Amino acid sequence: MRCIIGLGKTGLAVVRFLLNQGERVFVFDDRLKEKDFPDWLSRNPLVTPITLQEIEKILPLVEECVVSPGVHPNHPVVCRFEERGIPVISEIELAFRYISFPLVGITGSCGKSTTVSLVGEILRRAGWDVFVGGNFGTPLIESVLLPKPPAIGVVELSSFQLERVYTARFSIAGILNLYPNHLDYHPSMEAYFQAKGRIFLNQRPQDWALFPLSRPLWQARWCRVARGRVIPLGVGVRLFEGLYALEDVVFEGGVPPQKILSLEGCSLPGRHNRENILMAVAVARILGVEPETIEGVLRSFRGLPHRLEWVGEWNGVAYYNDSKSTTPSSTRVAIEALPGPLIVILGGKAKLADFSELTGVLALEKVRCVVVYGASRKTIEAFLPPRVRSFSVESLEEAVKIACREAKPGDTVLLSPACTSWDAYENFEVRGEHFKALVCALGKGPFPEPS
Ligand code: ADP
Repeated sequence: MRCIIGLGKTGLAVVRFLLNQGERVFVFDDRLKEKDFPDWLSRNPLVTPITLQEIEKILPLVEECVVSPGVHPNHPVVCRFEERGIPVISEIELAFRYISFPLVGITGSCGKSTTVSLVGEILRRAGWDVFVGGNFGTPLIESVLLPKPPAIGVVELSSFQLERVYTARFSIAGILNLYPNHLDYHPSMEAYFQAKGRIFLNQRPQDWALFPLSRPLWQARWCRVARGRVIPLGVGVRLFEGLYALEDVVFEGGVPPQKILSLEGCSLPGRHNRENILMAVAVARILGVEPETIEGVLRSFRGLPHRLEWVGEWNGVAYYNDSKSTTPSSTRVAIEALPGPLIVILGGKAKLADFSELTGVLALEKVRCVVVYGASRKTIEAFLPPRVRSFSVESLEEAVKIACREAKPGDTVLLSPACTSWDAYENFEVRGEHFKALVCALGKGPFPEPS
């Protein structure tokens, strides 16, 4: 029998799939009481919920565990199964065994969801029947239950999922970037790197490995682990091979270089989004999508909610919601991406106590002031540059009021918290929606659409 550890969205999708196959399963989730299980699960005779105390009893009956990405690798239940030599796999690994269509896998510390959605849009526009999901949206295992298999799958992969991938193969695999993240989960940057690199693990020579050339050290290491054909990507640099973007043009390296398409009219702001776009263009080109189709999607794609999302303009002040930013790295790129003068709202519950990555960028002339709020505001304050005017408040509501009071026409107010939302909200979506509601209330919204 299999044991499913963690009954979040992914774990429940795995249980549903295995029940559909007629399998009996054990399920474990230490945050859920049995009474909280959904009806279809608690009433099913094929499902046996277990507690921590019952693990020893079931060990001889379990041949494999499927662990959800949210479960810590040192969780006592995971450790116990591993000590017994019972394989522990991710949902991605399980799904791969049943999948007959090729997979595009995208990972990285930031930009995965944006890039995966963009690739999905482009392929759909080009007429592909595409499944888009993984860590973002629909779990991959659900694609197996579709009445008709799609022609291709585009999946977002987290390091947690990749860490427990053993045979899954991605015909096109891309790593966007690598910033210090999830170091509460991975013991070191090295371990984080190793987990991400597993996206290339089962590639064959005919497959494709994509990564940017912006970080020479990582790039050299990716080159060593990549087994497929490598396409380097560059933003603002000329390359002899691969794809690069200079100003608003994407080129294919070579002698002479070939102009592939124009990025004019693309509304995703910032250099970081250029990296995401380039990755999406590379995937689309490998799959033979015409440049005109890609250009059309790039002009109409507005990005995802809560990722540098334009909320509106009131009294000449623009408001952006970047609630998805839970690390200093993504807040840094958000500040770099927007023109000043900027009023930056930061705060929430910090993942790590180090905000040094923000000190330099917050000292930029374009930052008019900073408002810190929430549980970790004292930690963040220690990293604010002396030059910048700052305010410290308890709630997001107060932060928005101060930002609005300080802003002058022509300014931009940016919520890019660099922290998780868990001090006051269930998740980043709820926090982002609250921010938008607060902003709209200030402006007696709703705001007009951007032109
Ligand atoms: P992920 O799925 O990897 O979390 P998202 O596309 O949801 O990525 O974006 C998460 C946050 O990271 C947002 O704040 C966004 O503005 C920022 N971001 C997006 N792309 C990049 C990138 N290439 N480099 C750094 N930050 C990025």
